Amino acid sequence: MANTDRVIGFIGLGQMGGPMATNIVKGGYKLICYDQAGTAALMPEGATACGSVAEVVKGADTIFMSLPNGAIMESVATEIANVDSARASLIVDLSTVGPDAARSAAKRLALKQIGFGDAPVSGGRAGAIKASISLMFSGDKAIYDDHLDVFKSFAANPFHVGDEPGHGQTVKMLNNFLSATNMAATSEAVAFGVGQGLDMKLILDVVNVSSGANSASLDKFVNRVLPETYDAGFFAELLNKDVQLYITNVRAAGTPSDVGEAVATVWQAGVDSFEPKTDFTNIYKFIRDRRGKNKKA
Ligand code: NAD
Repeated sequence: MANTDRVIGFIGLGQMGGPMATNIVKGGYKLICYDQAGTAALMPEGATACGSVAEVVKGADTIFMSLPNGAIMESVATEIANVDSARASLIVDLSTVGPDAARSAAKRLALKQIGFGDAPVSGGRAGAIKASISLMFSGDKAIYDDHLDVFKSFAANPFHVGDEPGHGQTVKMLNNFLSATNMAATSEAVAFGVGQGLDMKLILDVVNVSSGANSASLDKFVNRVLPETYDAGFFAELLNKDVQLYITNVRAAGTPSDVGEAVATVWQAGVDSFEPKTDFTNIYKFIRDRRGKNKKA
């Protein structure tokens, strides 16, 4: 089958799924999609709305999913496995769910002869809109090669990171731990500098051409914190889910976790204080306002 003859399904059209689905349509693919929050309002122009997960499974060859967490992803995978006379032969999960959920969904789908690719993405909503995100696929290399053109329609940097489901999640978790660490550490550093009477823009100008530059100082602080828009397009509870998945897996593996434990504690405390669906860049205000908490006499 020529690759653009393949019907693509997409389940979960949120902050990441919406723009990724849009870029698949722009890539020339026929796309059918579903989101439980209301498909018609969320789907890209040129796509076809389905009324259920089952309808996607009966109409698409390959299905992408971009869902909030492992419990939801596993429940949708079970729904897919329970559909009789499925057309779909491959599910590619773009969500961040941790290795256990990826392995368990892969097993469940294999019982119905449906393949599974564990393929989390990174680069944020802005990257998803520009199709500049990275994709970390683990699963059958032949399937990866066969789908490379559709991956490239929405992700400029695809990687085949392993043959077994779970390895994509491992790379993604360690990446998001680094991103969350950058955000928490930069918040502490900037709060300290501002507290000493320095201007935030000046601090960022200096750091961003010096050795402290990182993904938070270069991007999130300049574009979302400094202008006080706090709109990176990633809910704090979702990043915290990733950090907690990371630390849980590190504890089980027994590799060092001193920094990880501290970062996981800060993000959990921040999210406990936030309303649901608060953008993760608000962690700066949370950390800034803890000023004095650790002050020594
Ligand atoms: P989101 O909450 O904006 O989107 C999730 C979508 O899934 C929502 O539209 C929701 O209605 C839909 N959904 C939930 N349950 C469903 C079900 N049972 N059936 C159909 N649809 C259902 O979240 P997001 O920010 O788009 O993140 C999606 C995934 O991508 C998460 O796993 C997240 O960790 C990961 N991720 C997010 C970012 C980011 O910057 N936002 C970056 C990389 C990875």
